[in-house]
Amino acid sequence: MSKKIVAIDMDDTICHLVPKAIHYHNAAYPDLPLTIDQVISFDLSGIWHPECTEEIFFGRPKLYEELEVFDEHTIEEVRRISEEHDVIIVTAARPSAVQEKWNWLQRHMPFIPFENFFVAKRKYLLEFDLLIDDGPHNLLAAREAGKRTIGIPRPWNSTLQNEFLMKDSWNGMGELVNNVLSGPGFPAKG
Ligand SMILES: [Mg+2]
Repeated sequence: MSKKIVAIDMDDTICHLVPKAIHYHNAAYPDLPLTIDQVISFDLSGIWHPECTEEIFFGRPKLYEELEVFDEHTIEEVRRISEEHDVIIVTAARPSAVQEKWNWLQRHMPFIPFENFFVAKRKYLLEFDLLIDDGPHNLLAAREAGKRTIGIPRPWNSTLQNEFLMKDSWNGMGELVNNVLSGPGFPAKG
């Protein structure tokens, strides 16, 4: 039997992008500090400082290299999943951030070969059996395509948390992946 393809997102799935971007935003604009709970969609233009831009918020040089690993279980669980399945890392990276993201992966997860590193915003075009992601649009598109999903609960996907299987820690993720892959499949929840 061929290996199952497990697609894993980067930002706010295996590392923390939004908290770090908020940190720099608040340092630059202390008169309008943001909290993560305010981030209820991927469009932050209504809540960030009037002088802030997409480029300032997400385009800070080296931002993607310094992101913290999601939690203390993340690296070992991704390694465990990759020993059993075909793990691909799929990230909707800004073109300028691709090198930074690959550097991050090499530093923290050197067991991921470069042929398993996919830069793709339209993730639904890829073949995979299971997607682990925080992006509501990605979870919805995967479900639409009949794929299995595990969501990472974040404020911006709160409206989906009752209808998708969610896991807020990487502790035991490998086991959950196996359960989801061997289970009845669709629906995504359960
Ligand atoms: Mg993400």
